[in-house]
Amino acid sequence: VAKRLEKFKTTIFTQMSSLAIEHGAINLGQGFPNFDGPDFVKDAAIQAIKDGKNQYARGYGVPDLNSAIASRFHKDTGLTVDPEKEITVTSGCTEAIAATILGLINPGDEVIVFAPFYDSYEATLSMAGAKITCITLRPPDFSLPIQELKSKLSKNTRAILMNTPHNPTGKMFTHEELDQIASLCIENDVLVFSDEVYDKLSFEMDHISIASLPGMYERTVTLNSLGKTFSLTGWKIGWAIAPVHLIWGVKQAHSYLTFATSTPMQYAAAAALRAPDSYYEELRKDYKAKKEILVSGLKSVGFNVYPSSGTYFVVVDHTPFGLPDDVSFCEYLIKEVGVVAIPTSVFYLDPNEGKNLVRFTFCKDEETLRNAVGRMKKRL
Ligand code: GLN
Repeated sequence: VAKRLEKFKTTIFTQMSSLAIEHGAINLGQGFPNFDGPDFVKDAAIQAIKDGKNQYARGYGVPDLNSAIASRFHKDTGLTVDPEKEITVTSGCTEAIAATILGLINPGDEVIVFAPFYDSYEATLSMAGAKITCITLRPPDFSLPIQELKSKLSKNTRAILMNTPHNPTGKMFTHEELDQIASLCIENDVLVFSDEVYDKLSFEMDHISIASLPGMYERTVTLNSLGKTFSLTGWKIGWAIAPVHLIWGVKQAHSYLTFATSTPMQYAAAAALRAPDSYYEELRKDYKAKKEILVSGLKSVGFNVYPSSGTYFVVVDHTPFGLPDDVSFCEYLIKEVGVVAIPTSVFYLDPNEGKNLVRFTFCKDEETLRNAVGRMKKRL
């Protein structure tokens, strides 16, 4: 393997999902629903295939999808973007993140990330030769340490790569925190890459796109996808929205990484994004009920559960159960209890951090969640 990837192991999601299968454990690890997306979206994909939408798509997205993304973004943020000039469709948000980094970051540029962070951030920044500056968000509320952010900005800082609602903690950046990040970025001429794939899964407060704050659109790449919102994580349809001077780099990287994304799925994604607001309300209601089952269940098992405002994840402190760290706790949980969680130390630059935390997902049907809680109550 090339040096730039030497330090990375098999992703934790792949590891944990194969262990789940091997041990017949209930998988509350990798964040994929065990139920299907809506019929109207699946039907749209079948129709597109039957209608012969099966050859290469236009590289930066089929016109219908670009326009549905722009309308949805306008509804959500009030921002008007040109669907033809300011959007690039990618193979999932993970590719959008990679294309943004490879398209806009030079080797040696500094990029700030907030730990814990989704594992692809570090790997992709390494592939681009970026210098990673890490700021840790700490329990109980994982709030932004603004002084630390100020002190870590340097003349070489090119971008902040952030995520709200935040995987794995479920933290949502508050309006005040986003304002603070925005003014620092404007003052220091820093870009923001904002991963917002859980934007529709916000339970305690409204999601705010940092691009919508004054002076921010011109320095922000907003990243999103279809998977979480429509329970279709295997479709891998994502996108980046940014002003022309930034999207150009993203589009160029995307052109040479994958060139284009699955054509029929893009037509179906366009149909999905035209869903009425009631779809999103229903989704939020369903997830709220699931979250309640998992959170109250975990509390009754004896975990210290940290508050989560968004995403379909919660993190807990596992130390009441006496295992030395998150990895050994997760091993015990799989083998002796029959439940899979994700150890969070893999989401930090410093592997000594996050050892007392593990992440559970509640994107499962209610019976599965109850069964998982039942197993933990009995066997932990
Ligand atoms: N984003 C999902 C999670 O955090 C999984 C993504 C993946 O499997 N790479 O669980």
